[in-house]
Amino acid sequence: MATLTFFGAARQVTGSCYLLDDGKYRVLLECGLFQGPPDVERLNERPFPFDPKTIHAVVLSHAHLDHSGLLPRLVRDGFRGPIYATPPTGDLLEIMLKDAAFLQERDAEWENQRRRRQGREAAEPLYTIADVERALAQCRCLPYGERFEVAGGFSARFRDAGHILGSAIVEIGIGSRRLVFSGDLGNSATPIMPEPERVEAADVLLLESTYGDRDHRPIDATLREFEEILEGAAADGGNVVIPAFAVGRTQELLYYLGELHEAGRLKQQRIFLDSPMAIAATEVHQRYESLLNGRIPGTWSHGGRHKVLPPLQYTRSPEESMAINRIAGGAIIIAGSGMCTGGRIRHHLKHNLWRREARIVIVGFQAQGTPGRELVDGAKRLHLLGEDLAVNASIHTLGGFSAHAGQSQLLAWADGFARRPRLYLVHGEPDKMTVLRAKLEERLRWTAEIPQANQTIEV
Ligand SMILES: [Zn+2]
Repeated sequence: MATLTFFGAARQVTGSCYLLDDGKYRVLLECGLFQGPPDVERLNERPFPFDPKTIHAVVLSHAHLDHSGLLPRLVRDGFRGPIYATPPTGDLLEIMLKDAAFLQERDAEWENQRRRRQGREAAEPLYTIADVERALAQCRCLPYGERFEVAGGFSARFRDAGHILGSAIVEIGIGSRRLVFSGDLGNSATPIMPEPERVEAADVLLLESTYGDRDHRPIDATLREFEEILEGAAADGGNVVIPAFAVGRTQELLYYLGELHEAGRLKQQRIFLDSPMAIAATEVHQRYESLLNGRIPGTWSHGGRHKVLPPLQYTRSPEESMAINRIAGGAIIIAGSGMCTGGRIRHHLKHNLWRREARIVIVGFQAQGTPGRELVDGAKRLHLLGEDLAVNASIHTLGGFSAHAGQSQLLAWADGFARRPRLYLVHGEPDKMTVLRAKLEERLRWTAEIPQANQTIEV
């Protein structure tokens, strides 16, 4: 018998963290960053609710920061055991954690300039690049399907969750009992990712519920709208600017653009992937093509162009990025950050927002308080890079792209279990969890529990 304590992603969508303890060994499932408004992000700074030195191993479902982003802090605070993940997760983790550490160090530096002026004590970054390097050195990568020893009586096996490259459903064996953690389950309508694998048996199931309250808009309708936006921009002679998330969404967009190009329906002859992080993530996808359903078009570094999407150019250096500013129309520019809070996208917005003929296409979630959210909400002016910009471009929000299973997909996946395990809903906002719980009851006659933060159960 062991216990499981819900330390994060309980009645919320970020900060995934579950502690398994059989009295002798302690295994941490996920070590995610809390993301959102300042009062939520402050949770990242509080001491861990356990001693990291007493943890024997970590098992990680995928590379998204809300699942992995506190690993460097765990290591800094004394964790010395292995971190188990799939090989692509290991590669993506390097990109994402280094970027996160870079931002943490930069934020601390700005904060410290302010504190010095006020004669206050300096602040430490949440973690540094050096902490990330140590965490990466503790990663042990194992492929899907292979059962492996974790620590003491704990074993594990990864199954493909189809959410982002490398994402896993985690089966944990505890003696003869089995705990299944869904991780983030993928959206089966996404062409490049495989369907989430069905799992047949478990004693206890932790099910994510991000979109527990609804189904996504059909992807076909979203793609038709996307194509019309591209055509409109080409006809008007404007650029298409897309703030994109580096991992997953960017590669999906490239896939769709590749399809349009091959079908002879893409007017734009210049496509820029203007983000070193997104370029690196795209290269990881190309490395693991066998795990994907569709080919990701790309370019090679020697100026060669990929046959699937010849207009695509990677712009790695700041000089190449700045040269894009001189292009007044006819280009598609994909750049980060996804919510326009930093990165090169801000410069492209500055040079295009005021142009009536330009199109800004929002393809991912925009949190409250971000420039991206202001655009979605119809702002007529936007304060960016110290300037007050007129918003004349048309702003389009495409809601159909999602890397998460919608409600019907969650229900169908859960229904794959031969016998009903004890069910706990995690990784969702409380109102969405309540809707999903009612649906599970109504459609599958299955009662789910919604655990509180810090609640402990027996598994
Ligand atoms: Zn995720």
